Amino acid sequence: MSDPNNPRKMGKCTRCEKWAEIKITKPFCAECFILHYEKRMAKVIKHNKLIQRDDRVLMAVSGGKDSLSCAHALSKLRETFNFHLGILHMDVSLLECTNERSEAVVGEFCKVRNIPFHFVRFKDYLGVTIAQVKEKSRRNECSICATFKRYIMNRFARENGYNKLATGHCADDMTRFFFKNWFSGNYAWIAKFKPRSDSNHPKVVTRIRPVFEHLEMENLTYAKANAITICGCSRCSYFLRKDPWNDILQTIDKTRRDFKIQFARGLEEVEFSFKESSRAFFECKFCGEPTDQEICAACRLKELNKA
Ligand code: AMP
Ligand code: ZN
Repeated sequence: MSDPNNPRKMGKCTRCEKWAEIKITKPFCAECFILHYEKRMAKVIKHNKLIQRDDRVLMAVSGGKDSLSCAHALSKLRETFNFHLGILHMDVSLLECTNERSEAVVGEFCKVRNIPFHFVRFKDYLGVTIAQVKEKSRRNECSICATFKRYIMNRFARENGYNKLATGHCADDMTRFFFKNWFSGNYAWIAKFKPRSDSNHPKVVTRIRPVFEHLEMENLTYAKANAITICGCSRCSYFLRKDPWNDILQTIDKTRRDFKIQFARGLEEVEFSFKESSRAFFECKFCGEPTDQEICAACRLKELNKA
């Protein structure tokens, strides 16, 4: 990490002769770190065929460091890969998580980069709030929020003519997801452990994760190096308080510093043979969205509110 008071402590930048200001995996000066970050992202995009010419990519931006850094780099790569980029920000109306300020920050971010900005409020789109559902459900706020976010992101992307949906999931997220779900025997999430999850239904938009191989710390540093304004809360306060896996992974991190990057790369190389094809796909009897049950997860939650 950067130590502006003692630049010589980190040695010379890996790419040029300047004194390094940033050290996460290797020492870099700020300019070379930016180049290194974008080059690695372009490599992940190419290697995993995340984006093709003329694709319409909708990037979901929460206003936190991961999705804003990813969106900034994607906006710079528009010319290299020749694609159209739009941004979706959802106001989940959950305490500190998203609010009027995050709408303004993401809106301004889009304006200066000439990116179409889409804004959706949970309450307007779904007709219910997380708080209303929470009153009738034993599920926690995070899990209700995640169900609604997934639902809106896919539906909004499809209905607005986007063929790819990008999220800011990074190597830290992937490692956390993997351990949590694998050890709980929850293999249905396996499609998430790749930089790209192809559509498995005409109504499902292909998911891409361009910062799959980047660390949270790299995203934060990239945001700072580019003077990107991030919203106060990059991750919901409920989540941080409740997830014990953060501590477990930090312990491993102390022994092997870049293990999350190595782990994410390993996930790309491994071919999982989960019997995904055996899962039937229906269209929800209420809203018509794809689901593996008669009623989709979002509508099941919405129905609770009516009960
Ligand atoms: P999280 O599940 O909060 O770690 O977020 C994972 C990814 O989902 C982020 O990197 C964003 O791409 C997307 N995302 C999360 N919250 C929002 C939001 N409020 N609006 C738009 N995209 C979001
Ligand atoms: Zn439904």
